[in-house]
Amino acid sequence: MRLIMIGPTNAGKGTQAAEISARYDVPAISTGAMLRQAVDEGSDLGQRVESILKSGHLVDDETMARLVAARLERDDTADGFLLDGYPRTLGQAETLREILDERDEDLDAVVLLNVPDAELIQRGLARGREDDTEEVLQQRLTSYREDTEPLVGYYRESGLLVEVDGNRPIGEVTSRIFERLDGVASGDGVEA
Ligand code: AMP
Repeated sequence: MRLIMIGPTNAGKGTQAAEISARYDVPAISTGAMLRQAVDEGSDLGQRVESILKSGHLVDDETMARLVAARLERDDTADGFLLDGYPRTLGQAETLREILDERDEDLDAVVLLNVPDAELIQRGLARGREDDTEEVLQQRLTSYREDTEPLVGYYRESGLLVEVDGNRPIGEVTSRIFERLDGVASGDGVEA
């Protein structure tokens, strides 16, 4: 299974990615986690992106392309993967398509987690991560609505979209995702 997970920060992507990863035996690749690790390690990349992460803006497409291309070269992605948080722009979606074209591979499904803005801000404040002020949380949402939401139409047109209500108890969201992805795994496509 080659999967993508789209959703704003605090929609529950990381939690659901771990569940999907275990059920379908694919590595969950979180670009947000990779970038945060680079910042913690103080690597060149980390130093370059630190202030961008803190501001809630997006890291540029070229930097992300290099990061993701290198990660997808690792052997553990040979039988599938789940990208959590990539692509986040139409340019990134195009890059991913090129990477997969070269491997002669296609995506199987794109999981979209829908959560209302007010709930996302509340979750973010409750989570209390350092630097996550209301202003930064708001900026993350603006980046999502402006840059990432256009991907929804792009993948819907490709017939890959699995849209799930993320404003439900965690277990319910997981069950709903599994129902839909089991259909994909058995060859029935993304139909609800
Ligand atoms: P996340 O944990 O997925 O919400 O990502 C945290 C932060 O990392 C985002 O707010 C962005 O600044 C950055 N980031 C993660 N993935 C991407 C991406 N695909 N493109 C640009 N920036 C990203």
